[in-house]
Amino acid sequence: MISIKDVSHRYTAKGREETVALSNVNLEIEDNEFVTIIGPSGCGKTTLMRAVGGLVQPTEGEITIDGQRVTGPHQQAAVVFQNFALLPWASILDNVAFGLELQGMGKADRIAKAEQYIKRVGLSGFERKYPRELSGGMQQRVGLARALAVETPILLMDEPFGALDQQTRRYMQEELIQIWEGDRRTVIFVTHDMEEAVLLGDKVVLMSARPGKIEEVIDVDIARP
Ligand code: ADP
Ligand code: ADP
Repeated sequence: MISIKDVSHRYTAKGREETVALSNVNLEIEDNEFVTIIGPSGCGKTTLMRAVGGLVQPTEGEITIDGQRVTGPHQQAAVVFQNFALLPWASILDNVAFGLELQGMGKADRIAKAEQYIKRVGLSGFERKYPRELSGGMQQRVGLARALAVETPILLMDEPFGALDQQTRRYMQEELIQIWEGDRRTVIFVTHDMEEAVLLGDKVVLMSARPGKIEEVIDVDIARP
């Protein structure tokens, strides 16, 4: 379980006024829950997500994962970025295997694992291609495979479909639901699209920007398509 207790965060840049990005945020996220965070631009969604990943240190309050306090970047979470963030000079296989190499996994094992997750996102046969040869939707499936392959219990997704056209976006939303149903993780998914938030989330966290507060947490109990 992820427990966010009274978390506040202020950014302070030299010579500029400080920005309150989060103000007394409290939230509990169960294992394997799919939580979407929605709110206007600048309301602190990304800051909250990054804080769970240990990439931002709360100015006040604390975040724990299974009782363990988050004090910096850790191995419990993998991130899927809006701009895909693939290595352009590396093949799809190498892009997915890269994180496994950082974990110290041997070559044969990481190739096998990368192939397994490339298959899971529906890209078998594309292992030797390069990112530029793939469409946006396919590139983001590579981003998803790369994040899944390191097998962290938590996936952090920062507007992962924000750069895709509407049709590809719809398609990817359905794909993500299917992949997640077959391979559950705790997901924190940031979006500013209410339809997307309700479609994907078990729980929708509504944030407001005055300043960086949770307004409401909505349990979505409608059946998934
Ligand atoms: P959201 O993801 O909802 O758009 P963010 O978490 O990115 O919101 O930002 C929350 C607030 O913090 C905004 O006012 C933003 O301008 C500010 N902010 C974000 N990152 C920084 C930073 N590195 N330095 C200073 N201010 C920042
Ligand atoms: P869209 O959903 O808009 O078609 P995609 O990125 O999913 O965007 O796919 C772009 C193109 O690549 C489409 O023509 C699609 O048929 C093709 N494509 C996507 N995934 C695969 C796949 N796993 N195998 C073969 N072709 C694919």
